[in-house]
Amino acid sequence: MDLLIELQTIDLELDDITQQKDEIQSRLDENKAVLDRLVGELSKQKEELDEIRTMRNQKRDELGEVQDSLKDRKKRLLNVGSQKEYNAVEKEIEALQKSAEQTEEELLQLAEVLESNEGQISQKEKMTKELGDGIAQEEAAAADKLGEFDAKIKKLTKRTDQARSEVSKRVLHTYDFIRSKRPGLALVAARGGHCTGCFMALPPQLYIQVQRGETLERCENCQRLLYFDESPAEEA
Ligand SMILES: [Zn+2]
Repeated sequence: MDLLIELQTIDLELDDITQQKDEIQSRLDENKAVLDRLVGELSKQKEELDEIRTMRNQKRDELGEVQDSLKDRKKRLLNVGSQKEYNAVEKEIEALQKSAEQTEEELLQLAEVLESNEGQISQKEKMTKELGDGIAQEEAAAADKLGEFDAKIKKLTKRTDQARSEVSKRVLHTYDFIRSKRPGLALVAARGGHCTGCFMALPPQLYIQVQRGETLERCENCQRLLYFDESPAEEA
């Protein structure tokens, strides 16, 4: 029975450490997921920015061409042979001027979009960098802690293996079965006629058997294994 109590103490400590380890790991995983999302958004925005820049360059070229044509038409206007030709060239100039104005306006709009996107991107880059640094720091701290936990788990597993090898198979089976059904204690004290796992009163005959300690008894209510604890029942 003492062995079983020791086994349970070690197992509970193992549960606790494993849980702490899992918590650290899942926090790290969450942070990484946030960082990945941010990095993904950032690269998409940079792609968009490149597209807008390409569009702006095209518009600039377009404007240049329109301005060249304008110069050409204005020169031609000085050398036209007839009124009819003059009117035709003047019409062309009007259309070209309109097109140049429109392109200039589009360029202004694109410049605004570019500025706002560049601002957003540099802000996001800063955030990404800060988050990345924070995660790296946290990971370094966690690595130490996780290493400690692993060492402890290894040590405790060795002790639990040792204890298990000394407990009978049938008892181990019952113990493992209860632990798989209920988190926490598989083995509880019977004190003052009560099961301390579920606080139900034990039938007197069962309590006497537990007191004798010759057989392994289970609480009929919560099914946990019972051991006798002679310290007086605490006032609830
Ligand atoms: Zn019980």
